[in-house]
Amino acid sequence: MSIAVYPGSFDPITLGHLNIIRRSASLFDMLLVCVMINSSKMPLFSSEERVELIEKTTERFPNVKVELCESLLVDYMKNKGAKVIIKGLRAVSDFDWEFQIALVNRKLDPSIETLFMPSGEKYTYLSSSVVKEMARYGADLQTFVPVEIIEDVQKKIHIERRR
Ligand code: ADP
Repeated sequence: MSIAVYPGSFDPITLGHLNIIRRSASLFDMLLVCVMINSSKMPLFSSEERVELIEKTTERFPNVKVELCESLLVDYMKNKGAKVIIKGLRAVSDFDWEFQIALVNRKLDPSIETLFMPSGEKYTYLSSSVVKEMARYGADLQTFVPVEIIEDVQKKIHIERRR
């Protein structure tokens, strides 16, 4: 069985992420979307909430599973028998960092390949940070995040404001 992983912070999942999920799920028997714990970022949503939001929007893909990854990605992959890492690329600016990470992962486990998938044209400008900023200003989120999670994002921003 071919298993790929799509790691990221997904804080929250955007239509750009969902586009990569849909396209890569059609290429592998199973796609594991991995919510990573990034110690240098202060997330808006807890990791459990981020998993739930992705689950809500990927229910229709039978071969997509969402998991929290608290260990080193290559260790997690070995455990799951996954051999491919999917990375979405929006612009050249994404490339430097992602290329570096791909080489580090290969160093850690030479049997793992990283595949870069170009962003859907409509989503090259889109990031979770843009979504959060737009939500804070009360913008219509329909063109940014899956419709199933719009309310969750608005509610969270509301709570953040009251703190
Ligand atoms: P961000 O916080 O920048 O949205 P994440 O860490 O959640 O990013 O991203 C996870 C993965 O998804 C990375 O490979 C990133 O390059 C990719 N990605 C993020 N946004 C998009 C998009 N709009 N189109 C394609 N790939 C994307």
